[in-house]
Amino acid sequence: MAKLSIRDLALQGKTVFIRVDFNVPLAPGGQEITSDKRIRAALPTIKYALEQGAGVILASHLGRPKGKRNAEMSMAPVGAKLAELLGQPVTVAPDCIGAEVAALKPAAGQVLLLENLRFHAEEEANDPEFSKQLASLCDVYVNDAFGTAHRAHASTVGMIAFVPQAAAGLLMDKELQWLGKATQNPDRPCIAILGGAKVSDKIEVIVNLAKVVDKLIIGGAMAYTFLKARGEATGKSLVEEDKIPLALELMNSLGDKLMLPTDHVVAAEFKAGAENEVVTVIPEGKMALDIGPATIAAYEAVVKASKTIIWNGPMGVFELKPFDTGTVAVALAVANSGAVSVVGGGDSEKAIKSAGVSDKITHVSTGGGASLEFLSGLVLPGVAALTEK
Ligand code: AMP
Repeated sequence: MAKLSIRDLALQGKTVFIRVDFNVPLAPGGQEITSDKRIRAALPTIKYALEQGAGVILASHLGRPKGKRNAEMSMAPVGAKLAELLGQPVTVAPDCIGAEVAALKPAAGQVLLLENLRFHAEEEANDPEFSKQLASLCDVYVNDAFGTAHRAHASTVGMIAFVPQAAAGLLMDKELQWLGKATQNPDRPCIAILGGAKVSDKIEVIVNLAKVVDKLIIGGAMAYTFLKARGEATGKSLVEEDKIPLALELMNSLGDKLMLPTDHVVAAEFKAGAENEVVTVIPEGKMALDIGPATIAAYEAVVKASKTIIWNGPMGVFELKPFDTGTVAVALAVANSGAVSVVGGGDSEKAIKSAGVSDKITHVSTGGGASLEFLSGLVLPGVAALTEK
């Protein structure tokens, strides 16, 4: 079910509505953007539409205004930053629907940024009337906001019923291409490395990826629920007691496919620089905060032999040095493997950046929740709604 891409649309002289992800982090007060990464990520699609002779309407949510106007979550600073990055003026509309907004219709080559979609509760409620009003602003629709594709809102799903064509933007296309390749027809051996705090957050991902991958590597705190299920000592490590039966079931069904840490870096305290040691059996009163050197070596060897790698989540308490060692080692191994590598999750991305190997990763996903849902095998409503090719 290939979806229409923006490259398939005739955009000359058309008004295109592009749902972007401009949900940028803001300093308190809402005037200063602390990272323009998401704005930059949307530039290729915006530039493409402008080059094709379209008038461009951009729309996004920003923060959680809960259906009310809130000056601290206005799109105005985003508009200013976008104008700077595009090198052309960007008009920021006073609202996202209504006659005043319709009157600002951009001519070919011009950009209109709508005010925060979530100033209207109808956006998240996927209200048909609101959807219709959004759709009335444009001739064609493009969704480039992969990060919100797992939500069925008016701007991601509802309005598509009222436009003749709905296509994926270049960023969305790239996400679908690489996540799709890794999970649907990967080069083998294909492995998944899953880390992070909780088994409960990633159960669906584990279950779905287990069907696809040749090896499933587990790290981070979620490993200790598995170890406890196997009857190993876990000391003060983070364990989800209520997920022990599930961990046991997964271990039984996955057998050798599942790899768990065999040694651990433990400390008595959860803090940076805490006195630590490497153990194979976690002592009473200590908690495992990172995978140990033997585990790193075993994981590196599997990574090295892989052709496709899906990675989501840190191998330890990555924020506290020196407990970032395992995560950084995995980042380097993934980067140097030469495999197709698809990485998701903020911590994995940070590890890749701090190891200075971002350019060696095939694809770093821009959508946290959306990429986890994709990896879980769920159909993202914002993708499903797009027009078939
Ligand atoms: P997630 O958001 O599920 O990817 O989890 C990321 C969080 O898991 C990070 O804040 C890590 O500090 C935490 N984490 C990873 N390993 C451990 C561990 N061994 N003990 C406690 N927290 C951990």
